[in-house]
Amino acid sequence: SIRVRFCPSPTGNPHVGLVRTALFNWAFARHNGGTMVFRIEDTDAARDSEESYEQLLDSMRWLGLTWDEGPEVGGPHAPYRQSQRMDLYKEVADKLVAGGFAYPCYCTTEELDARREAARAAGKPSGYDGQCRDLSAEQIQAYEAEGRSHIIRFRMPDEATTFTDLVRGEITVQAENVTDYGIVRANGAPLYTLVNPVDDAAMEITHVLRGEDLLSSTPRQIALYKALIELGYAKTIPAFGHLPYVMGEGNKKLSKRDPQASLNLYRERGFLPEGLLNYLSLLGWSFSADKDVFTVAELIEKFDIADVNANPARFDLKKAEAINADHIRMLDVASFTAACEPWLKAPHANWAPEDFDQAKWEAIAPHAQTRLQVLSDITANVDFLFLKEPVEDEASWTKAMKGDPVALLTTARAKLEAADWSDPESLKNAVLAAGEEHGLKLGKAQAPVRVAVTGRTVGLPLFESLEILGKDKSLARIDAALA
Ligand code: GLU
Repeated sequence: SIRVRFCPSPTGNPHVGLVRTALFNWAFARHNGGTMVFRIEDTDAARDSEESYEQLLDSMRWLGLTWDEGPEVGGPHAPYRQSQRMDLYKEVADKLVAGGFAYPCYCTTEELDARREAARAAGKPSGYDGQCRDLSAEQIQAYEAEGRSHIIRFRMPDEATTFTDLVRGEITVQAENVTDYGIVRANGAPLYTLVNPVDDAAMEITHVLRGEDLLSSTPRQIALYKALIELGYAKTIPAFGHLPYVMGEGNKKLSKRDPQASLNLYRERGFLPEGLLNYLSLLGWSFSADKDVFTVAELIEKFDIADVNANPARFDLKKAEAINADHIRMLDVASFTAACEPWLKAPHANWAPEDFDQAKWEAIAPHAQTRLQVLSDITANVDFLFLKEPVEDEASWTKAMKGDPVALLTTARAKLEAADWSDPESLKNAVLAAGEEHGLKLGKAQAPVRVAVTGRTVGLPLFESLEILGKDKSLARIDAALA
């Protein structure tokens, strides 16, 4: 059966590229009834952090990207944190050396640099030149006596590697482009190049789906896999599929340091998990020519790695927001109401938590649902309900107050006073009638009322807003505007 893995290193904040990789693995596993393994590649103590580890788990949970084996859920290949699997890596490294698949390399950084420079100057390939490939026992002894330290280097076979990438088709890499590479540091710490395939083998991973940036490590991993098979640590070589680059602003690769790439940004702005997953699935894949908004269930039903496109995908924030807006509209009202509350109940610059009014919020929520791109937009739409006074933005005021707003507002106030405040239609008729007296259409007549009551020129349906805010507060705000 199909077994995929999502295996991030816990460094920094989760970013959208990482989420796209997790999503494609997850959708592939779920579509095929396979197993999703979540592994933490925390072998770099200098860069990894516990905080980042916690964030990874929290992000996966928030997104609903469930895993069948991994941290906190366990599984037959536990532990799933590489920092807890060091004995295995040491054992495999020793066997690779003993079997001649790898060797100690005593070259110093200075020597390597100097030889690389010379090779470059001579127009020759500048990878490792194989200097320590076949050291005799005496040479090794001499280096040790000198006090030199060594790394462990994997011996690449002197032949081309060919494999069929699930996204890109057949790929052949010539031997001179993939030279012997380090798998264990001088201090004994195993490197990604070793631990990643060792664990993929141990965890019986069948499909490796990951970013295009890792394509160049695949020939090395395939060679290592072959050695692992000979040593009895692996059964077969997994299939590899490399997901296309994601391009950001200015058609540059979206880097994980790019602020636009931070998952937390989308979460804080109020993307729904389903909306974000929907958008991210379109980075390199498409549902169909005429449908780009779909549920997670539909995505799972349709997803096929064979449909992933090798061309770079462009991250388009506007499109992400538009898709998220559609997902907001797809929520039932109760879910929408609940989903917005964290933004409304959070400490605000303009109102205190105790000014939040649940009944008013529930009354206005259905009118707001069609207006938002992201949930955080909710505060600007409904803050007038909770503020002591509307924050009057001068520009809005001047804009709405062209002509003779004082006369209009005075008339409107009198007619509103007499209207039925349990019926938005009645409130509308009052403003309509006031407008008629001053030769103004409804749109022009309601503008100063809206600014007086909400502080803004645009917003939710005005008469429902007035009804929900209530007669006393609404009239008091018009009075304040007239004063
Ligand atoms: N820990 C590696 C990374 O985050 C995993 C790469 C892979 O999928 O092989 O880049």
